[in-house]
Amino acid sequence: MILKTEAVVLKTINQGDTSKIATLYSREQGRIKMIAKGVRNTKSRYLGLLDPVQHVEVLFYEKSNSDLQLFKSGEIVQSYYTLHKDFDRLAFAQVAMEFIERAAEKTEPHPELFEIIIGTLASLDNPKIMPVKSYWYFHLRCLGELGFRFDAFRCHQCKTTLVGTGAVYHRPDAAIYCTACSPTPDERFIINLSPRTMAIMQMIDGENWPGIQQVITTLSDRRSLWDFIWHYTKVHLPPIEQMKSLAVLEQIYHHA
Ligand SMILES: [Zn+2]
Repeated sequence: MILKTEAVVLKTINQGDTSKIATLYSREQGRIKMIAKGVRNTKSRYLGLLDPVQHVEVLFYEKSNSDLQLFKSGEIVQSYYTLHKDFDRLAFAQVAMEFIERAAEKTEPHPELFEIIIGTLASLDNPKIMPVKSYWYFHLRCLGELGFRFDAFRCHQCKTTLVGTGAVYHRPDAAIYCTACSPTPDERFIINLSPRTMAIMQMIDGENWPGIQQVITTLSDRRSLWDFIWHYTKVHLPPIEQMKSLAVLEQIYHHA
């Protein structure tokens, strides 16, 4: 059977002299893998179509008892020119692709997750939005969709509101506390989250893009939010350990 789907390319590996095996995240089928024969031939009209971060529509032959489908044809849906010509923006997009590749269930349709991915590519392509903010949005929204949403609004212990205040993330508990309930002041075990950092997380939860764009963060805010989201994610999603693209990004990020 021939199927058509809109998808984003997560990962590609070369196969033989001219073929590729691509892993895609699709709106209708979730994560799918397909072999595309001859597409690395310089004369192929599909050269580059199945490179990571491409947003495409593909036709493929579905083999019901195999997890490897056969690519037939396809075209670009959106080009995202700004994203593709900016090294930092592209590095964030590559981390997002690898994150989905490792964290999302195989072949399980999840259209909300697909919408977050293409929404993130669109915001990474927007020169008015700091790429790290688009990435935070992507990561925090994905955690929610994958069942690991954390409460950025209330203290884990006393349930007091965290709106308008700073908070403390306690690594051993993987939980957020108000400053009064923080189990320890020892910085080896906690990450201090400033009122700005908490506000960003709360605005991402409410999809308040105008608010997210207005918050001015310091380098220390960005580092603590970064350390927090990755620590929390590694606790809940062990497959994201040792992501290759993350090492590249952290070099950029910690020099930002
Ligand atoms: Zn508390």
